Amino acid sequence: MKMICFPDGTTVPALGQGTWMMGEIADRRVSEIAALKEGLDLGLMLIDTAEMYADGEAERVVGEAIAGRRDEVFLVSKAYPQNASHRNLRRACEASLQRLGIDHLDMYLLHWRGSIPLGETVDAMESLVAAGLIVRWGVSNLDTNDMIELVDAGGRACATNQILYNLGRRGPERGVLPWLESRSIPIMAYSPVEQGRLLGRPALTEIAGEHGVSAAQVALAWLLHQDGVLPIPKAGSVVHVRDNRAALDLRLTEQDLVRLDRASPCPATPGPLEML
Ligand code: NAP
Repeated sequence: MKMICFPDGTTVPALGQGTWMMGEIADRRVSEIAALKEGLDLGLMLIDTAEMYADGEAERVVGEAIAGRRDEVFLVSKAYPQNASHRNLRRACEASLQRLGIDHLDMYLLHWRGSIPLGETVDAMESLVAAGLIVRWGVSNLDTNDMIELVDAGGRACATNQILYNLGRRGPERGVLPWLESRSIPIMAYSPVEQGRLLGRPALTEIAGEHGVSAAQVALAWLLHQDGVLPIPKAGSVVHVRDNRAALDLRLTEQDLVRLDRASPCPATPGPLEML
């Protein structure tokens, strides 16, 4: 299985599991937990969640799915920007840990930049590492200028940047992606199938048909063929998580890659980082 290496040398499988919108609808809970468990059985050990998702309920869903399996999981959660201060970050982290039913996070991310100075967030994250509540930390939705500021503020230990990146959102290739690549900081690609909206694109469906796979697998395989890119699709059913796992085994041809590039080109000029 393809692996991704974080700057501290830790490796994880290159495909993870997202959880946005899990825990929102009671009737879907059983299916969501089954999907996450199936993902773990298939080796998709990185699970991404956030205190924001369903107001903490997504973390509770994850907690149920990973009960008794802590060692098989690489758990990532995210803090609201307003909680990324000295005063609030520890409390927010402890609340996430309680909902998840675990005693430490493998990675804790600043969800997006707010008004707290980045240097204060770096210090607050490092305090959580020292306290054993998190193993490492990173950021999300930070553009190149923010990343430079973060590193200048002492944030050289930043382990990842979780950003919106998929076949229809290729702006990062003209911006923060090469900056991160040059520093060996992997990205977590969120909304890798654009919440399902990518899946009807003709180039994707045609290539999927030729390989006898789904359009989701092609969209994920396009991300997976790149170094340092870890997509985190959210699957609310066992069928979808199995389909996504199969993307790790799909090898796109050079010709496929050229067709996808022509159909969904990278923007000609740099622009600001997009977020959902
Ligand atoms: P996504 O993963 O691109 O899409 C999820 C949607 O695609 C769901 O409706 C899901 O349906 C469907 N889907 C998944 N696998 C499928 C398959 N094989 N075939 C057909 N449909 C499939 O969008 P996302 O949830 O926005 O992004 C993924 C994760 O990234 C989130 O869950 C979250 O953990 C993270 N995220 C982070 C940020 C941030 O600001 N840092 C922002 C957005 C997302 P079912 O639910 O029915 O399976």
